[in-house]
Amino acid sequence: MSHAWSSSGEKRTIWWYYEPSGQIVDYLKDMRDAVHYGLLKSEELRRTNGKIPSPIDLRREIKPWFDSTYGYAKHHINPVCRSAVAIFRSFRKNRKGKRYPEARKLSMRLDSELVKLQDGFIRITIRPQEYEYIPVNGKHAKYSEYSQYRISELLLTDRKVVLSFTKPDQKEIREKKIGMDVNFRNLSMTVINDGNVEGVLEESTGNIVKVQNDYSRRRRKVQKHVMNPRKRQRKLREARGRQANRVKDALHKTSAKLVDENPDATFVVEDLTNIRKTSHPYGEKLRTYLNRWPYAEFLRMLEYKSPNKIIKVNPGGTSSECPVCGEKVKHPTWKISRCENCDRDYDRDRLASLAISLRGLDLCGDPFPVSAVTSVPSVMDEYLYVRKQPGLSGAGSTEAAYVPNKVVHKIA
Ligand SMILES: [Zn+2]
Repeated sequence: MSHAWSSSGEKRTIWWYYEPSGQIVDYLKDMRDAVHYGLLKSEELRRTNGKIPSPIDLRREIKPWFDSTYGYAKHHINPVCRSAVAIFRSFRKNRKGKRYPEARKLSMRLDSELVKLQDGFIRITIRPQEYEYIPVNGKHAKYSEYSQYRISELLLTDRKVVLSFTKPDQKEIREKKIGMDVNFRNLSMTVINDGNVEGVLEESTGNIVKVQNDYSRRRRKVQKHVMNPRKRQRKLREARGRQANRVKDALHKTSAKLVDENPDATFVVEDLTNIRKTSHPYGEKLRTYLNRWPYAEFLRMLEYKSPNKIIKVNPGGTSSECPVCGEKVKHPTWKISRCENCDRDYDRDRLASLAISLRGLDLCGDPFPVSAVTSVPSVMDEYLYVRKQPGLSGAGSTEAAYVPNKVVHKIA
């Protein structure tokens, strides 16, 4: 991936030509012989066990031979077994006219344990306490950056050196947390910083919902009016492709906006990985909705665009407790969380975002007393449910299309 945004554990590789020493050429020839031996043993094992051995099976088989024949450092047997099994597997799959599998090239992939960068050289452990040095091409544009990372592998041939690094996941959890609840019309967010609830944010997702609704309508129309099955298939496929692009576009815009506006925050989101498979406290309604709202894709975008780590919390029951008294709340309509004890109506989505934020803090070992929220009335007001006038913006006509009939009936 060549994104400007970095994600965790990416590979970085540099390579250059070199002149191998006599000892390296000898080493590569020995390794090629060892791979040949590994191929013979692979065939033996296959005949005995009826299946291609794993590299570990093969290592068990050839280790006594390998140690007594060469005296190389013990790690060298690993790439030999991996290469042998890979060559053997591809030979079994497609012989390309060959009668026997064979390793022809002088080429070996060395484990990171055998390789170290030292004073402008790659130091390779050949035998215990016996090293071979290859000068590094320090002029390589990226070398000084990559050399800070962990070496993942060295590929050595008789002409080329290919050095791979693993770029570590450097994202951090920030003090500032934004708990996010994804719901029908918008993303509701609670911002907590330095032990204070700073406020509530909202981001409309109406554009995404609209694209999804447009598509459903178009699909129904095609199914009703296009009689030729082949033509119908094509029309549906086209509509699906266009819709997927438009949704992706909208997701990109929304995720980029959130990250741009909150570069110093760790987002806390619900881990809904399994929501489609399992029955869930969210219930049927939200599941229907989430099946159509590309939540996983949205999170993926948020995760790789954000310079900070994202925290995923358990989603169960985030909209079920009163933040003032802890009483279980009721939902007289979909959007309201009502505490009968305090005689208060909360905005269900906003309240959920508060619960998600608090779970994020808990997970970071930074538990946050709910009383700290309720002690600030101006913040508390943000969680109260405000009945919206029909016809005003935000009263959301797109929403109705998403709520199953019985719920629409209740709201009306
Ligand atoms: Zn209460």
